[in-house]
Amino acid sequence: MDILSKIKQADLVGRGGACFSVAKKWEAVKNVISDKKYIICNASEGEPGIVKDGFIIEKYPERLIDGIKIAIDFLSLDSSKIKAYLYINNKYYKKYYKKLSQSIGNLPIEIFVKQSGAGYIGGEESSLLNAIEHKRIEPRLRPPFPTTSGLWGCPTLINNVETFYNVSLVNSGEYRNSRFYTIGGDCFNNGVYYLSDNFTIQEILEKTNNIPDFPFFVQVGGNASGEILNSSQLKESVGGAGSITIFSLEKYQNKKFIENLLEFFVNESCGKCTPCREGSFRLNEIIKSEKVDWQLFFDLIENLSETSFCGLGSALAAPIKSFIKNVYPQINEKY
Ligand code: SF4
Repeated sequence: MDILSKIKQADLVGRGGACFSVAKKWEAVKNVISDKKYIICNASEGEPGIVKDGFIIEKYPERLIDGIKIAIDFLSLDSSKIKAYLYINNKYYKKYYKKLSQSIGNLPIEIFVKQSGAGYIGGEESSLLNAIEHKRIEPRLRPPFPTTSGLWGCPTLINNVETFYNVSLVNSGEYRNSRFYTIGGDCFNNGVYYLSDNFTIQEILEKTNNIPDFPFFVQVGGNASGEILNSSQLKESVGGAGSITIFSLEKYQNKKFIENLLEFFVNESCGKCTPCREGSFRLNEIIKSEKVDWQLFFDLIENLSETSFCGLGSALAAPIKSFIKNVYPQINEKY
């Protein structure tokens, strides 16, 4: 069976956060006729609370590089027509450069270090195209999508570290429908765990001995964009980039928690579009004021999530709205 059929059979989805079908993406790049194609492995891992790609690079660098090599072979162009980049954050570069270089050997894979200061948006897939082309790091208008017009206008296959790791497992028949979960926050056993992708939050916390013995809430899928759930809502599976962060209800006061979230978005906004640049700043001002105008606050959130240029602006709504809906009443009542 060829690799595309194996990926289809495994129903592999991307593990960068968007959960897009890997087979569809690979097919799309393969089907474009072009003299030059690129592959990018995204190892920028910029969302707070997620460290599983770093874990994979540390423990299984040869699996990661094998996954990229399989993609190179799949696109079956001669070596002058294909090039892969491993786009990596500075911290991982310093820690793992040697390991990665040894695994890469003579393969056409270049390690490209994400600029310091590129931040969260530097890991967004169209922004990283700009980064590699040495342009201003900001998202591109889509379509066209990178699969047809990516690096220097050429078809470009972008997957993250865990996705290439899974491709390697699928190819060798060792993939078992599992994924990496980063568990952190106010928990007993933080770390990265490899468990079934069908598990609920409750099952994952049980399997890892992380059910708190105090009132708590969780943020799931990433500490910036992830949804926030209370302790009676743990029957859901984990989406996004696979993190579960536990927060003690006692420690996190309502307004302060929202302020921390907004600080992140204000700092990480690339400034390209007005709704995100001005909107996140204004939301932060409103929440910090003595008497919060909640009507204005929610109007601005809706506006921001519907009109922002890229996913960072629209991602702001999910954690704030879910925190207020699922957790805020509990904090207000002091449980
Ligand atoms: S939503 Fe706009 S300002 Fe915010 S990161 Fe995206 S492009 Fe930049």
